[in-house]
Amino acid sequence: MAEICVIGTGYVGLSCGACLSSMGHNVICVDIDQIKIDLLNTGQIPIMEAGLDEIVQSGVENKTLFFTTDLNQGLKFAEFVFLCLATPQSEDGSADLSLFMSVVENIAPLVKSGSVVITKSTVPIGTFIEIERVLNRTDVSVVSNPEFVQEGSAVYNFLHPDRIVIGSGDADAANRVAAIFSSLNSPILITDSASAEAIKHASNSFLAVKLSYINAVAIMCELYGADVLDVARGMGLDRRIGSGFLTAGPGWGGSCFPKDTSAFLKMAHAKGYEFTVLRETIAVNKAVQDRIVEKVCSSIGGDIRGRKVAVWGLTFKANTDDVRDSPSVKIISRLIALGAEVSCYDPAVKVMPLVIPQAHLAASVEESCERAELLIVLTEWSQFVEVQPNQISQKMSSKQIIDCRNILDKHRWIDAGFSYQGLGR
Ligand code: NAD
Repeated sequence: MAEICVIGTGYVGLSCGACLSSMGHNVICVDIDQIKIDLLNTGQIPIMEAGLDEIVQSGVENKTLFFTTDLNQGLKFAEFVFLCLATPQSEDGSADLSLFMSVVENIAPLVKSGSVVITKSTVPIGTFIEIERVLNRTDVSVVSNPEFVQEGSAVYNFLHPDRIVIGSGDADAANRVAAIFSSLNSPILITDSASAEAIKHASNSFLAVKLSYINAVAIMCELYGADVLDVARGMGLDRRIGSGFLTAGPGWGGSCFPKDTSAFLKMAHAKGYEFTVLRETIAVNKAVQDRIVEKVCSSIGGDIRGRKVAVWGLTFKANTDDVRDSPSVKIISRLIALGAEVSCYDPAVKVMPLVIPQAHLAASVEESCERAELLIVLTEWSQFVEVQPNQISQKMSSKQIIDCRNILDKHRWIDAGFSYQGLGR
């Protein structure tokens, strides 16, 4: 059993802290957000994440999981300090490490001698050198342990990882960190620090490449009359390719892929290498959204000023409440800029994202469709698959659907009198 401090109690830090406590460690989570810490201390979970409430509750009850805003208290006994802070995109496209490094600076005088500082945040390759420099503690080791969980299944992913990557120049520290995860039945890969940091970027960017690739294939399917669902299935059965992340849709988004691909591109550029595959991957992603906006305009007849459009889904994917860098929000914002009236419904979103205040947030799928001429499905929530055509057919002024996730039963909706367009089919 290890004494662990997790700094940053967001999507990654909270899942990480709660899972480590469920694995038998003593964990204290530190965050500067007093409201969040108060919620957690009263048993409430500030984010939507399957299975998180149960493990947080049992950790708190068993007194193996604590929450505080007090950094001193968090670091007092910690042998391991996990840094789970946001590393957002800065204006020039690189990763903004200002918050992350300020925390490294703050903990430098406080961490216990002999402890290990572990980076879970996604940081540019080479950041470990800067962490060591700012910590300036020869009695403290620095280890990179990038996180690969996906929002919506973060607890399951953390407890059943495909691999655990641990990077350090200090073999003893790497082995001590590996021991924390020894109860998980997963391969542990120990590398040097730069390679661990690179694995995270290479993995996220590769997944983005796969998604952009299938979205480009979806366009080919539309041009040549093929069905991207069958094409993706046929490709995915090839074990060299694999079926994951071969789903055509409104482009990748969320709090990681956009900023991480951009940061990786910047890292390449900084060393004089033009990472063209990645640059095109990002360009294809943007073009997918342009194409959806064009489809909306041409379905309504060109000028969409004052025209009513219903949107199902605001989150960047299903089973999360996260709307950060969501393709749906970007598309809605474009439609509003073109003059459309947009009414949205999302089962996990109760407050309209700040960037699209003009859109109406409906309380149900039915309400979102009132007087709409067109319905666009932008997030793959299973609830949308269950909707019966007669729930909305009388509400809409024109029965048109663009299913950007290819989740609706095309024939059922066509039989009910709707015109149906998917993506790539
Ligand atoms: P987040 O924004 O959800 O959480 C960050 C937390 O840090 C917030 O709760 C914030 O209040 C807190 N914080 C800010 N300043 C602080 C300070 N000075 N001291 C203590 N806490 C402070 O971010 P996230 O989505 O959890 O991502 C964290 C890192 O993990 C990022 O580098 C991200 O790229 C990476 N990552 C994210 C995911 C994901 O699915 N979200 C997956 C893998 C890796």
